[in-house]
Amino acid sequence: MEMDNLRSRLEQRFSYHLDLLGEWVGINTHSANAEGVGTLGRQTAEVFASLGFTPAFLPSAHPWAGQHVVLTRPGRSERVVALVSHLDTVFTPEEERSNDFRFRIEGDRVYGPGTCDIKGGTLTALMTLDALRTVVPDLFETITWVVGLNALEERLDHEFTDLLRTHLTGQVLAVLVFEAGSPWPGQWPLVVARKGRVEFHIDVEGRGAHAGTDFWSGRNALLDAARLALDVAAVSSRERDRTVNVGRLHGGTETNRVPHAAFLDVEMRTFVDEYLDEGLERVREIVESLNASGGRATLSVTERLRGWPRNPGTEHLFSIWQKAGKELGMEVVPQERGGLSDGSLLWADYPTLDGLGPVGANDHCSERSADGSKDQEYAVLSSFVPKALLTCAGLLRLAHS
Ligand SMILES: [Zn+2]
Repeated sequence: MEMDNLRSRLEQRFSYHLDLLGEWVGINTHSANAEGVGTLGRQTAEVFASLGFTPAFLPSAHPWAGQHVVLTRPGRSERVVALVSHLDTVFTPEEERSNDFRFRIEGDRVYGPGTCDIKGGTLTALMTLDALRTVVPDLFETITWVVGLNALEERLDHEFTDLLRTHLTGQVLAVLVFEAGSPWPGQWPLVVARKGRVEFHIDVEGRGAHAGTDFWSGRNALLDAARLALDVAAVSSRERDRTVNVGRLHGGTETNRVPHAAFLDVEMRTFVDEYLDEGLERVREIVESLNASGGRATLSVTERLRGWPRNPGTEHLFSIWQKAGKELGMEVVPQERGGLSDGSLLWADYPTLDGLGPVGANDHCSERSADGSKDQEYAVLSSFVPKALLTCAGLLRLAHS
């Protein structure tokens, strides 16, 4: 009965909620667009205020960035549930314009910047809370709800999650992250693990020389960098699910000059921290062996984020959502994902589950090609109500457990 009432509330309100999504997607919120991020933050806070949430606008330490938003609704108990999403996207206004990338509905898909990553997720969180408040007000009033909206998720650092932590006092039952779910036919994947990532930079020094008169006395930094790129990329391992991506390789100035300098920017990802350490050790050896052969390269690690492995807190939440899914006739399955999210920074301290947004795909892509090989980011319209209902059912079970 409760489930039927929740479902019909979600269905009744969906066209209102879809209009909201249209408004949110219409605001450009590229991570560096402080004004757009601020506007979306204020508009989102207004909507949540109608459910009794009070906003805190938290300025970023980065002067070019918008404000983070934390919305709180105190409950009658010490029990806290956090719903985490973000305000920013990776798309600049110019990119949106030149690719005609905007909110529009085509069949069962809603296209537009952030429909999948992650404004559609914020909407799913709102739908969930609205339905619980209307249908099970007693339960809704019991829990302290905290909605965290990161202004800078796409530039993942610790700033937002450190701020959010200060709002998470009491007994935190769950941190629910509303990144989108993958489109797996007949199944509803939830994210239970994410890869760790290390980013590094290698500076290569050569010896510049005139390519015509002094060629043999030069040392080509660009060629050293190219050798390093191949060797470092080969640290990838399918067996260990370790990927090494050489993302940038730059060097040289003129064709009549033996390049005196070059650099590479690289990232490596694995699910297992040990494999990340091992990979980094291999990279060190590669750099040392170039140096032993007369080259000059310096390795510096620029960023390191440990992995989110399968863990008891996440597994506990997942099993509750899986049972809730069964009750609703939805096959809920675990997914281990390569990309990072705020969950990567929170799982170690709180039980955390991710992928609770709508089903969607092509996130971070604004292009569409005539042959269909490239398509823009979208969310699946018919997935919003089931995903919100699934989280309603999961929260009901969690609150009663
Ligand atoms: Zn995201």
